Amino acid sequence: MILAFVFSGCSSEREQLPDTYVEGSDFQYMYTREASNFPNFQKGDNGYYLLWNDFIFFFDEEDELIVPLCSKPDCLHDKETAQEKRESCNAYASTFTSTGLAYCNGDLYYVDTDNSSHFPTLYQYMSDGSGRKKLYEWTEEGFMPTQWIVHRDVLYYTLQSYYTDEEEIDQFLAFYALPLTGKDRLKPEQIYFPEEEGMETIVLGNPVAYGNYVYFLEAGNQKKGDEQVSSYIKTHVYNIQTGKISEIRVPGQTDDQWIGKVEFWQDKIVFLLYDSEKGDSGEGFYYIADLDGSDAEILFNTDHQIYNIYGDGKYLYQSNAENYEMSEDADPKMYHVYDENLNEIDTFTTDDTFNFDFPIGSEDRAYCIYYKESGEWGIEYWDKSVIGSLNGSEIEFTLIPYEGSIQD
Ligand SMILES: [Zn+2]
Repeated sequence: MILAFVFSGCSSEREQLPDTYVEGSDFQYMYTREASNFPNFQKGDNGYYLLWNDFIFFFDEEDELIVPLCSKPDCLHDKETAQEKRESCNAYASTFTSTGLAYCNGDLYYVDTDNSSHFPTLYQYMSDGSGRKKLYEWTEEGFMPTQWIVHRDVLYYTLQSYYTDEEEIDQFLAFYALPLTGKDRLKPEQIYFPEEEGMETIVLGNPVAYGNYVYFLEAGNQKKGDEQVSSYIKTHVYNIQTGKISEIRVPGQTDDQWIGKVEFWQDKIVFLLYDSEKGDSGEGFYYIADLDGSDAEILFNTDHQIYNIYGDGKYLYQSNAENYEMSEDADPKMYHVYDENLNEIDTFTTDDTFNFDFPIGSEDRAYCIYYKESGEWGIEYWDKSVIGSLNGSEIEFTLIPYEGSIQD
């Protein structure tokens, strides 16, 4: 009995985690959107956190109040004008080149990628505003973490560098994991380096994660024969438990068919098989597959390959909001909502000021950050309990201004 207990104790905690969405510890895919992989809004255990204008703010849903994430009594937070004092606020997070905000198991994480006066730095913020600390610095000259997520206490990121080798300008790109807890805490591990013959990788990134899997996109140029060059986009899936990486592919996929971003729905991945010969306005097919990419099958077809899909844990949404003006037909801007049996249960549209998709949010509410020319900003939310009765009408967002942003 004792031996059995010791043996089970040897298998790491990470291996026990399920292939479902674990709130509070997992990458919050529902707060991203197609045009931006850098969420600036995160759900915590006691409320929400947002990143805006160099500061992290806490939002309490019940009292609808937005406050800087700083408990220092003598601090002016975002009202401070002296830069040195601003930077000493517990809530300070330079958004000069913001790459998002992440909440994981009671703490917030932020990567300051501004390397003009210091090394790129990973910060950890206490979720009660009592402090922040430097966790990790990328001290190798010219190397930059460009895109990152936190999932189950591990930071996953693209490390990028441009270097000049005499006349040749080359680029370094690789994908890393940096554990934030456990015995390998803060020891970076390279988990992917593009080295396939005849491939020139230009983009490596767009990381997302669900269950025991992390996904990232690779794009670049491919040499066919001597000189001929074609583009490619592919998505890799990293199995956290086994450490294996594979490319997501569907049966019969050709070199001209690409798999880009994956979405999550019903504990599976949903993605578009983009046929580059047909172009954005061509007809395409969405697939559904197991989280490791296996058992892929067609979910439905789409009139235009460029339309976006989103999952909120309950419903699947298809949207033409970011591309409806580009499409050749005159379809109005519309979201289509599907239930777990893929029945279309509703349609809706958004105000003319939304010429992009909003982060689809949780089952209950979608949240956005709004701002006005006056300098006023705040949170706006859409109450999703109206789904089922919208019939193509415009959804309404409720504004909660940050009181500190309103000028008298
Ligand atoms: Zn402060």
